[in-house]
Amino acid sequence: MITIMMNHQMTLEIISLAKSIRSRAPKASSPSVRKTMKAIPSQDTGPEKKLRSFLHDTGLRFRKDVEPIPGIRCKADIVFRKTKLCIFIDGCFWHGCPLHFKPPKTNSEWWVEKINDNVERDRRKTLLIESNGWTVLRYWEHEINSEIISDIAQNVIRLVKR
Ligand SMILES: [Zn+2]
Repeated sequence: MITIMMNHQMTLEIISLAKSIRSRAPKASSPSVRKTMKAIPSQDTGPEKKLRSFLHDTGLRFRKDVEPIPGIRCKADIVFRKTKLCIFIDGCFWHGCPLHFKPPKTNSEWWVEKINDNVERDRRKTLLIESNGWTVLRYWEHEINSEIISDIAQNVIRLVKR
């Protein structure tokens, strides 16, 4: 019960900050903001598909793009419910990759604030999911190459079979 209340409280805090940033979206040039947003896919991107199909080929079965914990508004890319393991592939732009995130030239201050908030939310969601007894694996989209994919698969197989 306490965990449920904590989850609820943290979810509310996570949502309210995002709303505050959204409400300050630069109005004058919001078409340009929308254009930037549209240009960057938010889900089912190449790296996620690549990892899913590799894991699937090794015989692993999982859910894709679902909430690991009901009630926490956070979908993971790959979810192993029984094992309580979830995997996130973080896009280099939206999740603020230290190597590849560059704010758009227009409204760059707002973008930096928005992406910083995303980074902070990722961190808190990871903690929240972990505090519910789950293992969380996060990878950058730029990391998804054949080497790391087989590492992930080995890791997952080890955890699933435990
Ligand atoms: Zn990157």
